[in-house]
Amino acid sequence: MRTAGSFAPVREVREAWGRLSDGCLARFPCLADPARRSSLGLKVALVLLHVVIVGALFPLDTDLVRRTREHPWYTVIYLVLFLATLVQYFFTSNSSPGYVIDAMRAWDGTHAAFTNRRQSAPRHGKFVSSTDINQSGKIDSRMNWLKLVTGLYLPGSSSRSWTCTYCHIIQPPRTKHCHDCDKCVLRFDHHCAWLGTCIGKGNHCRFWWYIFEETILCIWTGILYISCLRSNAIKAWWKEFIMIVLFAVLVFCFIFLFLLLLFHSYLALTNQTTFELTRRRRISYFRGIPRSVRLFSKGICRNLYMFCCSCDTMYTLEAVPPREELEARARPYTCLDIMSCRCC
Ligand SMILES: [Zn+2]
Ligand SMILES: [Zn+2]
Repeated sequence: MRTAGSFAPVREVREAWGRLSDGCLARFPCLADPARRSSLGLKVALVLLHVVIVGALFPLDTDLVRRTREHPWYTVIYLVLFLATLVQYFFTSNSSPGYVIDAMRAWDGTHAAFTNRRQSAPRHGKFVSSTDINQSGKIDSRMNWLKLVTGLYLPGSSSRSWTCTYCHIIQPPRTKHCHDCDKCVLRFDHHCAWLGTCIGKGNHCRFWWYIFEETILCIWTGILYISCLRSNAIKAWWKEFIMIVLFAVLVFCFIFLFLLLLFHSYLALTNQTTFELTRRRRISYFRGIPRSVRLFSKGICRNLYMFCCSCDTMYTLEAVPPREELEARARPYTCLDIMSCRCC
């Protein structure tokens, strides 16, 4: 028969666990938020996956250790790539995707400076005080932003469809509200759970470089695994079994990363986003436009330039092209178009 005393150790363990979790939350307040906790968990899991797959090579492959002694530069370059991939991961994870609210602030700053320069000049012999300028600047700010954004859409578009129902911001074209970040993102691509951030105008290029580095690391690691399994350097069966399991995980990761790299390269070349490609019918300014027409494409070369330099022009807004331009782009390619590199 159980007595109250038999539950005492369980209660003590629970209390100790409660004290430990309270201490952790006091030291790291970010862990109190379930969304940030799961994001942190995924980051830890990703780093552990890297460390396990790469780290397992050295104790299991004795031949690799021998080769490292003979040609240390080979392993040094491999480890540099491994570290660079992890650094790129955290660099992308902590980068801003380009929030609309930041674009509004940046635009407000330049617009206010421009207005101040104009208004501080004497008008009809009178100077306008700085307080008046600040107040009128705040009042006009939203209207000016609305005017700016209206000019980016086609005439006759309804401003109701551009207003975010969650943060009540007037959205420029290609913007979408992210429910995980709870912010509107410029040139929204997708919210990446593994990185714990949105991929948008500000960090799409960094994201591409991260996938590229991961793919190269996967290929190199795969080559090391294959050479180890083929050399029969492993004596114990359980070591070989671990190597085969890790290699299978690596092949799965490689297929996923390679397809992702191809897909995002295609998006970069055609100036499209995952959201635009998958939810085309839901976006008002895409309606009635043939699927073959890439709405924001400016030719392969300019698309690539804009993609690579998006950090410098993070808050430069793109306008929806006029109908006449889109109709001209929709016409089929002729021999002359191919010879004059119309797509570039
Ligand atoms: Zn929003
Ligand atoms: Zn997001």
